Amino acid sequence: MDTERLICDRARAVDASGIRRIFNLAAKLQDPINLSIGQPDFPVPDRVKDAAIEAIRTDRNGYTLTKGIGPLLDRIAAHLRFDIGWDVPGDDGLDCIVTSGTAGALTLLFLALIGPGDEAIIPDPYFAMYPYLATIAGGKAVRCEMYPDGRMTAERVEPLISERTKLVLFNSPNNPTGVVSTVDECKDLLELCRSKGILLVSDEIYDEFTFAGGVTDVAAGDGVSPRCPSPARLPGAEKDVLLIRGFGKTYGCTGWRGGYAVGPTPIIDAITRLQQYTFVCAPSPTQWGVLAAFDVDMTQHVADFQRRRDMVIERLQSVTEVAVPEGAFYAFPKVPEHLGLTGTEFVDRCIEQNVMIIPGNVFSGRDTHVRLSYAAPVAKIEQGLDIITKLMQG
Ligand code: PMP
Repeated sequence: MDTERLICDRARAVDASGIRRIFNLAAKLQDPINLSIGQPDFPVPDRVKDAAIEAIRTDRNGYTLTKGIGPLLDRIAAHLRFDIGWDVPGDDGLDCIVTSGTAGALTLLFLALIGPGDEAIIPDPYFAMYPYLATIAGGKAVRCEMYPDGRMTAERVEPLISERTKLVLFNSPNNPTGVVSTVDECKDLLELCRSKGILLVSDEIYDEFTFAGGVTDVAAGDGVSPRCPSPARLPGAEKDVLLIRGFGKTYGCTGWRGGYAVGPTPIIDAITRLQQYTFVCAPSPTQWGVLAAFDVDMTQHVADFQRRRDMVIERLQSVTEVAVPEGAFYAFPKVPEHLGLTGTEFVDRCIEQNVMIIPGNVFSGRDTHVRLSYAAPVAKIEQGLDIITKLMQG
């Protein structure tokens, strides 16, 4: 059988070779200083583990309703009422679905909205999956260049809008830059999308990882944790914003595949129909497990990431240009021009010295930067920074 002939254009269009190449090179390293990981380095809180284990033990292992288990949908609704003032499901035509990770929500959303010829505006730098979501759905991703400051502004988005634009995908705190948008930037973007009849999709997978002292919104109800500015918090936003959040990063359970999408009922209905005949439902032990997560205080972990951010940025700023991350756990420094190296070439040098980071072209049309993750032990981050900063000095 000629299996090559069987593979269709859609699958051929997805090229994961950049990232695979790095992992293949790194597989040869003994005990690498690994600053490439896109997930927290803390364990899942015991209460959350216990809740998932208890669900398995008590035989709650079957399919759930397509949209998710009732208690979790209720808990998400209570959280959103407290956090952003949305009433779900309410008279305002809002609904919610629990999905297989944030990626599950994004995939189904693109399948629901983007058909042949349709366009989705995505940030650049972007989370590696974004451009392919549009390709897989049969449409086109239009990249909004955000160099050098990493900000997705209405000014940068407006010229990219066409007759075929269905959605603008917004991600704050951003992967790979860690940049957090201001309230004014959210306002302008929402106004622009509204005026053009385009859906504003807010991927807030890192919402809980927002650092104090920056552009953060007023403190949350507990008076302690800072809140990430979000277009979803703006008056009347529920008519024009689709909010996507996840549990994997916040509670360190990325492999459990838990996330949710909330927004206008007709869009959630379309996603639900597609989930019914693809994923069927989000994993049931995950749903019961994360139900226990909302009451767990993760603020110490966030403060910990903030301290690491301070350390990373201080070191990087002394040798190169870098946008200051105000959330998530990444930094995206530029490879200094005097080196004459692409991001990929610089990463090769790092790997030669046992440090694993990711080249900018995995996250961008350009290959001028590198992403490092500080979801790693402090001693490892320090060792890695010693090598990276030395290489950047040339
Ligand atoms: N969006 C962004 C911005 C991400 O960084 C990631 C994961 N790295 C995802 C979505 C997908 O997350 P999940 O594991 O919940 O599917």
